[in-house]
Amino acid sequence: MLRLDKFLANMKVGSRSQVHEIIKKGQVQVNGKICRTAKQKVKESDEVTVNGQAVVYQEFHYFLLNKPAGVLSATEDRSQKTVLDLLKAKDRYQNLAPIGRLDKDTTGLLLITNDGQLTHQLLAPDHHVPKVYYAMLAGVATQETAEAFAKGLTLKDGTELKPGKLRILSQDFDHDASEIEVTITEGKYHQVKRMVASQGMKVLALKRLSMGPLKLDENLAPAAYRELTVEELAKLK
Ligand code: URA
Repeated sequence: MLRLDKFLANMKVGSRSQVHEIIKKGQVQVNGKICRTAKQKVKESDEVTVNGQAVVYQEFHYFLLNKPAGVLSATEDRSQKTVLDLLKAKDRYQNLAPIGRLDKDTTGLLLITNDGQLTHQLLAPDHHVPKVYYAMLAGVATQETAEAFAKGLTLKDGTELKPGKLRILSQDFDHDASEIEVTITEGKYHQVKRMVASQGMKVLALKRLSMGPLKLDENLAPAAYRELTVEELAKLK
């Protein structure tokens, strides 16, 4: 149960004061009756209309973003643009946050939701959601690099990593460059970059292609996003 004004404001019918105004004017009905009391308690399943238009309550929202380079995976920052700044005003629901982080220069799939339970579930260390990245490298990744990843690397600072999968996409010995696909099941700080660095190479570009059953939607231009489909959400949960 929540207050009618909160119900309407949460569903982006308007700001809290705009919502009060339309309630006062008698434009809001609850289960077929005009309601002029902003603090009237309503259930999420109640039939609420504004000027005859149904307002269906949806508590959680799930956005799949193609993160561009140059924005932070944070909810707010004093001076820099965050992934939440990429959302249109109508989509800025309360408590939205990215599920995990991508580095500022990393691009690709990032989920944004206000469903704290799902966030918690997907980030739990024992959940092992596989994440697939495309990386462009300075240096040529070889079969030995793949074997080292598969064994589970120990980084310079002693961090022990679970086995990762490396698939070589291209090797350019003349220009000392290569492209790889890396699958990891953890989300340690700069993990892919540090794994590559441990093998004497450098990541020049990094893009997340998938997270668990979710794939980056190639129809989404960088900085574009969409709501998850019902099927995608069901697979994720
Ligand atoms: N690994 C990294 O090094 N950076 C990312 O943004 C994601 C994974």
